[in-house]
Amino acid sequence: MNHFDLVNGVLHAEDVPLPTIADSVGTPVYVYSRATLERHAQVFRDALSGLDNPHLAFAVKANPNLAVLKVLARQGYGADVVSGGEMDRALAAGMAADDIVFSGVGKTAEEIVRALKAGIGQFNIESEEEGRELATLANTLNLPANAVLRINPDVDAGTHGKISTGKADNKFGVGIHRAPEIYGRLDALPSLNMRGVALHIGSQLTSLEPLETAFGKIGTLVQDLRANGHRITHVDLGGGLGVRYKDGDNPPEPADYGAMVARVTRGWDVRLMFEPGRVIAGNAGILLTRVIRVKPGAGNLPFAIVDAAMNDLARPALYDAWHDFEAVEPNGQKMTANIVGPVCETGDTFAMARDIDVVAANDLAIFRTAGAYGATMASTYNSRGLVPEVLVDGGKFAIVAERIAPETILAAEHVPDWLK
Ligand SMILES: *Cc1c(COP(=O)(O)O)cnc(C)c1O
Repeated sequence: MNHFDLVNGVLHAEDVPLPTIADSVGTPVYVYSRATLERHAQVFRDALSGLDNPHLAFAVKANPNLAVLKVLARQGYGADVVSGGEMDRALAAGMAADDIVFSGVGKTAEEIVRALKAGIGQFNIESEEEGRELATLANTLNLPANAVLRINPDVDAGTHGKISTGKADNKFGVGIHRAPEIYGRLDALPSLNMRGVALHIGSQLTSLEPLETAFGKIGTLVQDLRANGHRITHVDLGGGLGVRYKDGDNPPEPADYGAMVARVTRGWDVRLMFEPGRVIAGNAGILLTRVIRVKPGAGNLPFAIVDAAMNDLARPALYDAWHDFEAVEPNGQKMTANIVGPVCETGDTFAMARDIDVVAANDLAIFRTAGAYGATMASTYNSRGLVPEVLVDGGKFAIVAERIAPETILAAEHVPDWLK
């Protein structure tokens, strides 16, 4: 459910007509709904109500906007961060350091030191080498660190290859069969409080089955680790729940996910931790764009050229992802068209031969389900500006990330003296 609906023939974000935002901020622009974010945060929390005190950490990489993080912080969410930059954002949004989990396969020494000094609640270690480096730095600084070992359970998440993370040949975590020996060596290091394990097998999962399989393997591993004398108090089950991008998509209901988790983890006697990203933010955002012009194409299919491009919303180019496209003021007629951006790459294509609302030059339109992995992946390719972000709350809205103009980016570049 979300709060982007037609009211009197005009698409609104909550109570704000989208043309008002386009007039005020320009296009393209991401628009987020506070009510949708809060609803999703609540639905996910409710889904886990059968568990004892689950830890909820929003996966910041899905949408790192400071105001979005603030909304989630006020919902009691901590953060799962994968870089020092994301850590700074979570802290700036008011999340307690203790509620921040530091994941990521390539934490640098500098990032680890900063996280130790900030008092980050848990490091999700991705290799024995990283664990040893963390222990050394924690020891030197006399700042003991809570840590869990990320396990690669070798399960096929059944999602797009580029967002699948739990197969043996993916770069993430340590292989489940090597985990007991590695855990044993890390648990012996001073200044490292090894307290459990973590996993995250991929994103946009449309079936609970791979998750259940992976969780089952983790349950067995927890037993093995305890049998080896380790004290296991935390298990981080990651994120990955898929969302609906188009008609016919049938992602798992959070409530069914919660019930499955409760069933599979019964008797584990640990604090369970979660890192939802897309399921919280995905449907809470749209990308608002304006049609530049419509030009004829081969085979009678016109190209609707919009002012948003692959640099603003990369998912279609990266993963062949589908985003619903709708006119902001639909006239009831439909056409079949290709939807493309202005960037000079054929990959800058949002949809081919799509049945869409009739649009013409200067019409406003939206790409739905753009609240996760949208603005955060934006680039300045083709010397385009960085897309701005707006947050709506009832009848009011605010720019929560400014457009960064191409001139500003150009001003940060320099020609060396010896080239002048
Ligand atoms: C990306 C990521 C997540 C969030 O994944 P979603 O599919 O957005 O829920 C959680 N944990 C880790 C370690 C991640 O890398």
